[in-house]
Amino acid sequence: MANNHCPTCGSRDVVQRTVNDRLRAADPRGHPFEVELQLPVWSCRICKLCWQGQEALAAKEAAYQYALVKHLPSRPAT
Ligand SMILES: [Zn+2]
Repeated sequence: MANNHCPTCGSRDVVQRTVNDRLRAADPRGHPFEVELQLPVWSCRICKLCWQGQEALAAKEAAYQYALVKHLPSRPAT
């Protein structure tokens, strides 16, 4: 896995942890809403860098899709 080492110091002494995060998003009609999610991030134990890998992108996408479904009222006729 490309994410298993620190992009700054190159150390492999990294851990994955989960943080609470919040996204600002907009639905297809342009109405903004907030998405709260548990974001998986990588953390380097050597230089304390924290970064997001592909898991984080996937988690954001999933949280956005989930929130969008909840956010939108019953589908209006188009
Ligand atoms: Zn590092």
